[in-house]
Amino acid sequence: MSDWLDFVQKGDPAPEWPYPIRYEVHNEDSADVLILGGGIAGCHAAINAAKKGAKVIVVDTGAVIRSGSSGTGVDHWQLACTNPCCKISPEEMTDAVIENLGQWECGIKRYIQCRESYDALMDCEEMGVQVRDVEDEFKGAEFRDEKTKLMFAYDYENRYTVRVCGAKMKPALHKALKKLGVKIYNRVMATSLLTEGGRQGARVVGATGLNVRTGEFHIFRGKATILAMSIPTRLWVFNMELRGLGNTNFDPNLAGAGYAMAWDAGAEFSMLEASTLNPGGFMYTPYGVGNPHNTWYACTMVDANGKEIPWVDRDGRVLETVSERYRPAPGQKFFLLGGGVSASEWSLKIPHPIFHKTRSPNLTPDLPERIRKGEFILPLYADLPGMPEHERRAIFGLMVGNEGNTRVPVYDLYTQAGFDPDKDMLQAPVWPPEAYNIPIFSVPPPPPLWRDVGFCSGGGLVIDWDLRTTLEGLYAAGMQVLGGSDHSTAAATGRYAGRKAAEYARTARDPVVDLNQVRTEKARVYAPVKRKDGIGWKELHAGIARIMQLYCGETKQDSTLKMGLQWFRDIRESEASNAYARNPHELMRTLDCFTRLTAGEMIMHASLARKASSFWLNFTRLDYPEADPEEWNRFVTVRLQDGDVRVGDLPFNYWLLPPNAPTYEENYARHCGL
Ligand SMILES: Cc1cc2nc3c(=O)[nH]c(=O)nc-3n(C[C@H](O)[C@H](O)[C@H](O)COP(=O)(O)OP(=O)(O)OC[C@H]3O[C@@H](n4cnc5c(N)ncnc54)[C@H](O)[C@@H]3O)c2cc1C
Repeated sequence: MSDWLDFVQKGDPAPEWPYPIRYEVHNEDSADVLILGGGIAGCHAAINAAKKGAKVIVVDTGAVIRSGSSGTGVDHWQLACTNPCCKISPEEMTDAVIENLGQWECGIKRYIQCRESYDALMDCEEMGVQVRDVEDEFKGAEFRDEKTKLMFAYDYENRYTVRVCGAKMKPALHKALKKLGVKIYNRVMATSLLTEGGRQGARVVGATGLNVRTGEFHIFRGKATILAMSIPTRLWVFNMELRGLGNTNFDPNLAGAGYAMAWDAGAEFSMLEASTLNPGGFMYTPYGVGNPHNTWYACTMVDANGKEIPWVDRDGRVLETVSERYRPAPGQKFFLLGGGVSASEWSLKIPHPIFHKTRSPNLTPDLPERIRKGEFILPLYADLPGMPEHERRAIFGLMVGNEGNTRVPVYDLYTQAGFDPDKDMLQAPVWPPEAYNIPIFSVPPPPPLWRDVGFCSGGGLVIDWDLRTTLEGLYAAGMQVLGGSDHSTAAATGRYAGRKAAEYARTARDPVVDLNQVRTEKARVYAPVKRKDGIGWKELHAGIARIMQLYCGETKQDSTLKMGLQWFRDIRESEASNAYARNPHELMRTLDCFTRLTAGEMIMHASLARKASSFWLNFTRLDYPEADPEEWNRFVTVRLQDGDVRVGDLPFNYWLLPPNAPTYEENYARHCGL
């Protein structure tokens, strides 16, 4: 394998682009249900639309067999409230999660997760994914139900999170798609939505795409279209050297295409102003270093002298046994996942009384202070050998062997290098003491300017009980939808959206594509390959990230947000319209930059529209410092109409207000399509 030095010093020829280049070559296809994004939500949507008899197309920039944030696996399946061992009802769990997020959550999405994610898991089992302890490897373990052989994480009493062997989840979904005759377009990035008459706000009738290897152009007609392309990553941070491309929580290839194309088509979004901190590449691979959080409660931490760090329940009562770390406190019905603090509490940094209700056991919260006083000496270590046998094997085996980011870099590599969890401890990184109060020890305190779109509960498309967006013919699932998400939400909402889109497609009129809209999109897509020089995608990306850091960073105000928007307008007119691409890969990355420009603008518009700070949205306005005043306790919505940004709002719980039925159960029964 040559690198640039070989080319220069030895005169090796630079490798040629390995695929035929076919810019402008035109392909057309049609489906009843067109799915953009073949990740978790997209695959479940495709399977369920196909089961309803629809002709289905899935389009993905990567290869569906491994693409997306769960491409490398999943080890825990959240909020499976209808599993036979769970003691919490879907309604109770939905209410608890929404309360824990201060009402800033989409109840439709959450309820569908609580109600259907176990069914989605059963679908996966049918596809060949192991979701039980079939080999009786963990017989007798506290986290195993002897009758069903299901295994649980977090709250062992209430049993709502299932441990799964999901390293091969995507290959199993991919196989199911093939079996059902779903047509898959791998390596084709969706670039825009097509609307009736080419009008913003009109019914969506399909999408355009670009083959990222050959450069060919695609036109897809769809009676119904489902967006499942997740959220933008790397919007504030672009760093090619630290931990991949500088993303933390999701597939770094996600640019937010679903955001940008639905915005251009005129769909409504909300909560875009929410953001969270992003360690920007300085974190270690989670669970590759000593850590007691997330699904690792059983892992006792000791200091450099072997002194044990105490665990406490939500009331500060010291827990004597490992088993107690998996149980609610006396008087507490159940706790929510998150390692002591909920993810939102961690991201928000400020304790809030609401969290007390569902706070999980945790390391003693005065640990930073006690490290400072010298009571505990750094570094800390995860005492794997000291754990109960079943727990150790569940963590360094079942979980690390299946969780996305740990299978190869931690489980395989450490094992090959001789790491033995029966004998070896894992060192935690040496951070400032305050860092040991956060849920995952692999994360250092990040710089406040480095942010990510809110993922605990963040912005996305406004949807109704059909998971339909505000545009006719356009549905959404997974991270793409307003509110928080994880693997099982994506699976459950994909499942539901697939059914609903197929149902709509059955009676929908044939989609008619507007040729002018196609021509305009084609010109936009190929402009960078027509230039021989100008600005490359990396420089463009770095510039966009810088604008986001400076003008839409930790603190915001009208004047600087408006400057940020002005910067983006300038960049569009100058740098972006001078961007060049030398091959289809660079073209894809350049188009991703255009997408990020739009996503950044959307976030700035939403941030301008909220004239108040918000604790819950992690949103600080210098010019409106009061956090969450009563009159701002509502969702701000934004959309594009005739090129202008329209701001609106929706009340909390908009999904339970008239004309809908007043309860989750009734709404679900009326709409779910089962
Ligand atoms: C390392 C890691 C471990 C995780 N572990 C867990 C876990 O154990 N439990 C859990 O609940 N959650 C976990 N998550 C979160 C979970 O993976 C995500 O919440 C889930 O994948 C979201 O599903 P989605 O379908 O919305 O998005 P994704 O699965 O990310 O799918 C999005 C798809 O859209 C495609 N796409 C993007 N842009 C375009 C475009 N322009 N055209 C066509 N296609 C496009 C992408 O290629 C991708 O396939 C983990 C995430 C990571 C990164």
